[in-house]
Amino acid sequence: MKNIKTFPEQKQNLPGNEHQMNPEPEIIRENYAGSGKLLGKVAFITGGDSGIGRSVAVHFAREGADVAIVYLKEDKDAKDTKAMVEKEGRQCLLINGDLKDEKFCKTAIKKCHTTFKKLNILVNNAAVQFPRNEIEKITATQLQKTFETNIYPYFYITKAALAFLKEGDVIINTSSVTAYRGSEHLADYASTKGAIVSFTRSLSGMLAKKKIRVNGVAPGPIWTPLIVASFDKLSDFGKDNPMERAGQPSEVAPAYVFLACEDSSYITGQFIHINGGELIGS
Ligand code: NAD
Ligand code: MG
Repeated sequence: MKNIKTFPEQKQNLPGNEHQMNPEPEIIRENYAGSGKLLGKVAFITGGDSGIGRSVAVHFAREGADVAIVYLKEDKDAKDTKAMVEKEGRQCLLINGDLKDEKFCKTAIKKCHTTFKKLNILVNNAAVQFPRNEIEKITATQLQKTFETNIYPYFYITKAALAFLKEGDVIINTSSVTAYRGSEHLADYASTKGAIVSFTRSLSGMLAKKKIRVNGVAPGPIWTPLIVASFDKLSDFGKDNPMERAGQPSEVAPAYVFLACEDSSYITGQFIHINGGELIGS
């Protein structure tokens, strides 16, 4: 794992691009050995251009899956992710667009299915956050943008994907530690992450009869472009958990592999907490 104690003191004012991060996140451990756990599967990952989504794409590819990734505007990051997936010997379809638009969500799922002729793993993962320390500063416009980006597309994409998901397929939703303990500076974001927990639990019950499992991951502080783009002081990032450090995407994505493959066949409606040891209600 790369040295993560060398975070810069101040925000770098970057627009959330991974290729401009210093230090660059660790995407996959060099010694991560794939064992065909997802051989022949097709995965659709929102926000797959960078951070946790990119890492999930590369892990899935190493386990034998082809992937489609949706991203908003980070063309260079998306192309880099595609190259990483191809290096694993798998295909990567890039889909550029705004998940806030339900029509786009339908088209994106269709594109994936037309290209690969199937869809087995859906990872809802794209999000935005705008830190504000006082609730009075959370404008109606910001509130709307946070909810429209972070939770509405989980419904849009899932609805569209259900036309193709079959018995044995899975949905994995990205929440956050902030869903469980709240956040003083991310009240709107944390609220959307709480909604994702309730959505996951509701959907798991709805889809149990169809034998489609629905689970989630609740990460703590992870070194990704989202963090660099939104926080002013980076050197303390992740220091307030028992492990006193932030995590790398390479430490999060293996949980998505577990939830995507048969190893988790008796698990649905649950979350895996990857947060450096913070103990929270499940
Ligand atoms: P990231 O910025 O690398 O990934 C988020 C991606 O979402 C972006 O690359 C962007 O392309 C995409 N996106 C945002 N708005 C979009 C829109 N309207 N349409 C299409 N795509 C859009 O950041 P990340 O940290 O890897 O975030 C991934 C997930 O992990 C998010 O759900 C986030 O809430 C969650 N998470 C992150 C942390 C952390 O510390 N990094 C902690 C807890 C949870
Ligand atoms: Mg990005």
